[in-house]
Amino acid sequence: MDSNDRLISYSANGRSFESETIELQRMVRAFAEKEISKAQEKMDESHDFPYDCWQKWSDLGMAGILVPEEYGGVELDPFSYIVAMEEVARVSQTFALIWQVHVLVGNMYNLLGNDDQKDTWLRKFATGEILGAFGLTEPNAGSDAGGVQTRAVLENGHWKINGNKIFISNAGTEISDGLILMAATDKKADGRPILSSFIVPRNTPGFKLGQSFKKMAWHGMDNRELVFENATIPEANLLGVEGAGLKQALSGLNLGRIVFGALGAGLIQACLDESLEYAKQRRQFGKSISSFQLVQAKIADMAIHAEAVRSFTLHAARLFNEGKDCQAEAAMVKTFGTEMATKATLDAFQIHGGYGFMEDYKVNRYFRESKMLEIGEGTNEIQRLLIAKHLGC
Ligand SMILES: Cc1cc2nc3c(=O)[nH]c(=O)nc-3n(C[C@H](O)[C@H](O)[C@H](O)COP(=O)(O)OP(=O)(O)OC[C@H]3O[C@@H](n4cnc5c(N)ncnc54)[C@H](O)[C@@H]3O)c2cc1C
Repeated sequence: MDSNDRLISYSANGRSFESETIELQRMVRAFAEKEISKAQEKMDESHDFPYDCWQKWSDLGMAGILVPEEYGGVELDPFSYIVAMEEVARVSQTFALIWQVHVLVGNMYNLLGNDDQKDTWLRKFATGEILGAFGLTEPNAGSDAGGVQTRAVLENGHWKINGNKIFISNAGTEISDGLILMAATDKKADGRPILSSFIVPRNTPGFKLGQSFKKMAWHGMDNRELVFENATIPEANLLGVEGAGLKQALSGLNLGRIVFGALGAGLIQACLDESLEYAKQRRQFGKSISSFQLVQAKIADMAIHAEAVRSFTLHAARLFNEGKDCQAEAAMVKTFGTEMATKATLDAFQIHGGYGFMEDYKVNRYFRESKMLEIGEGTNEIQRLLIAKHLGC
C-alpha cells in the first residue's frame, strides 16, 4: 500500500472525511515529503531548531490550526488536526512534537485567556511568530504534580516566582515566548501544592534558560531546564483561575493523548514503508528477504497495527470533535498507539539487519524516537491507571 492508496482507503471504507480534511491531508503530506523531510535531515545532523521550515509551515496557517479566525488562526477542527498530525509524524516525529506543544499552548491561551491575553499572545502564536512552551515538570515532580516546588507569591501587584523546571520543550529557541508556567500559589491541608498557570514573557527579569539536554532522538527540538530566581511578572499574567492550574492543564490532555496516537500511527506507517521497500530489494539465500515468512509476519504486523492505531485514533478524535467524554479512549489510544510504535520500530530494525544499526538508515532513527512516546504526555503506566479507574477499579 503506498501513500496514495492510504489516502483513498481513508475515504472509501465508511470512515470518510469531509472534503476539506482530505484536502488538508493532501497538502500536509506534500509539504511533509518535500520540506519537513529536508528539515528532518538537517536537524539530525545539526541538532538546530528548524526555523526556515517552521516559518513556511506557519505561512500555511498551520501554527494557528486551531486558533479562532478572530485571533488570526485558520480555526480548523481537532479531527483535521489529528489527520494532519499523522502525516507530519510519518516524516518527522521531531517536527510533529514541536508542532504539538505549540498547538497545545495556543489551545490553553484560547480556552483560558482573557481578551487582553489573547490579543497580546494568541495572535502571535497563530502566525508562528512566537513558539509555545508549557512548563510543569520539575526535578522532583514528573508523573506526580504534587511534587511541584516552584512557588509564585503575589507582592505589590506582581507575582514573584522561584523554582526550577526540567525537560521543557520549545522553551529556549530564538522565537520562544509566552511560556505557560505551572507554579504553586497555595497548599492543601496535607501540604500538597495548589497550582496556578502563568504567562512568562521571555525577557522577564529573573527568568533564565538553563542547560539544554543531549537526547538520543528528537534532535532539533529544544528541551531544557528553566530557572526562576525572583522572576517577576505582572499580576495580570495569571492565566485562568488562581488555584485551578492543574485542572486547567489536565483539561488539555485528552487532545494531547490523541495526538500521541497519531504520532504512533505515523511512526508505524513509516516503519512499514521502509521495511517493505528494503525487504523487497534485499536478497539473501538467492531470494528477496520479503519472500521469507518470518519477515513477512513482521511486515504484516506493522500493517495491522498501522491500521488499528489509525482507526482507533480517528475514533477518539471524532469523539473529541463532537465534545463527547473521551478520557478513557484518549488514554487507550496513547498507550496502544505508542506501544505498537515501539514494536514496529524494533521489527523494522530487525528486518534491516546490521544496516538498521547504521545512522544513515531511517529505521535507526525510528528506533531511537519511539521509546519516549511511551513516557511523554503522561507515562503509559499512568494511562493504565486512568483506564482502570474509568472501569471502576
Ligand atoms: C524529551 C522530553 C520532553 C518533555 N517535554 C516536557 C514539556 O514540554 N513540559 C513538561 O512539563 N514536561 C516535559 N517533559 C517531562 C515528561 O512529561 C516527564 O518525563 C513525564 O511526565 C514522566 O515524568 P518523569 O520523567 O519524572 O518520570 P517519573 O514520574 O519519575 O516516573 C518514573 C517511572 O515510574 C512510573 N510511575 C510513576 N508513578 C507511578 C504510579 N503511580 N504507578 C505506577 N508507575 C508509576 C512511571 O510510569 C515511570 O515508568 C518532557 C520530557 C522529555 C524527556
